[in-house]
Amino acid sequence: MSPVFLPAMYIGRFAPSPSGRLHFGSLVAALGSYLRARHENGRILLRIEDLDFYRCKKEYTNLIINELHTLGFEYDGVPYIQSEHTNVYLEKAKELIDKGEAYYCHCTRSMKKVEPCHCKNLHLQQTENTNYALNYEVKNVCNNTFEDVLLGKVHTDYITNELTLIRADKVISYNLGCVVDDILEGVTEIVRGADLIDITPSQISLYKSFDKEAPRYLHLPLIMQDSKRKLSKQNHSPAVLDLASPQKLLITGLKFLNQETDDLSENMTVYKILAMAVDRFEVFAISKKPLLMTV
Ligand code: GLU
Repeated sequence: MSPVFLPAMYIGRFAPSPSGRLHFGSLVAALGSYLRARHENGRILLRIEDLDFYRCKKEYTNLIINELHTLGFEYDGVPYIQSEHTNVYLEKAKELIDKGEAYYCHCTRSMKKVEPCHCKNLHLQQTENTNYALNYEVKNVCNNTFEDVLLGKVHTDYITNELTLIRADKVISYNLGCVVDDILEGVTEIVRGADLIDITPSQISLYKSFDKEAPRYLHLPLIMQDSKRKLSKQNHSPAVLDLASPQKLLITGLKFLNQETDDLSENMTVYKILAMAVDRFEVFAISKKPLLMTV
C-alpha cells in the first residue's frame, strides 16, 4: 500500500496590538487572514500582541475582542494574550544568548548616533543593577528577498543589522514575541498588512536562529490615506471602526480586497456575509499595489 500524504493543516493568525481600537487597516488584516485560513479549511488563531505595556491597554484588548466578535469572526481556541506568557519570551531570548546570537547593549540612541555600537564584543552581563537592552544581530539569510504568496519575489531596501529583543525598559519587542508565538502555534502562513514587509527579512533571520523554517508570507495591500500618505499610527491615529453596521464594514473590507460583493447586503447577518466570502475567496484577485482607504 502506498503511503498517504495528508496535506499539512493550514494555521493562520490575526495579531492586533491593543494600542487602540480596530481601524480600517486592522479590518483588512482581520478579514484577509480569516478568509484565507477558512477557505483553506484551516485554523485561524487570535493573538493579542500587548507586550508593550506602555502603549497597550487591557481595555483595548477587551474592546478589540468584542469588536471582532461583532464583525462575526470566529477564531479557534481562546485569544492568546502575549502579556500572560512573558516567561516564554524570556526563555527563548536566553536561548539566543546561550547560542551567542543575542547580546546585551548599553548604548543609548544618542550614543549610537555618535559612534557605532560595539557591545557585541563586550560580552556584557545583565545584573540587578543594570538596565541593558538585549539585541540580536540580524543575519542576512535571505538577501533581503523573500517569496510572498501574493506579491511574488519581494526585495526590501530596508536593511538593519540589529533588532532589539528586549528594550532597556524591559519591554519585550514585537519581533521576538511575534516570531516565538508563530513558531509555538505552528503558524504555516502569515497574512498581514504590507507595512510589515520591511521587517520580514529580519524575522526570517530570527526563525533561522531558532532553527525553524519561516512560514509563508502574504502581505495585503498598503493602505493609503491619500495619494502620498500611508495609513499608519505614525501619521496620525487612524479612525476607529464605526460598528453601527458591521455588515457594511465587512462589505467595504471585501471590496478593498477586490472580492465579489454584488450579491451581499447589509440586511444579511455578518455570519452569512463571511460564509459566502470564505466560500468564494479569490486570493489572487487582491491588488498587489497600494490602495486608497475606502472607509
Ligand atoms: N501586532 C502587529 C500590528 O498590530 C501585527 C503583527 C503581525 O501581523 O505580524 O501591527
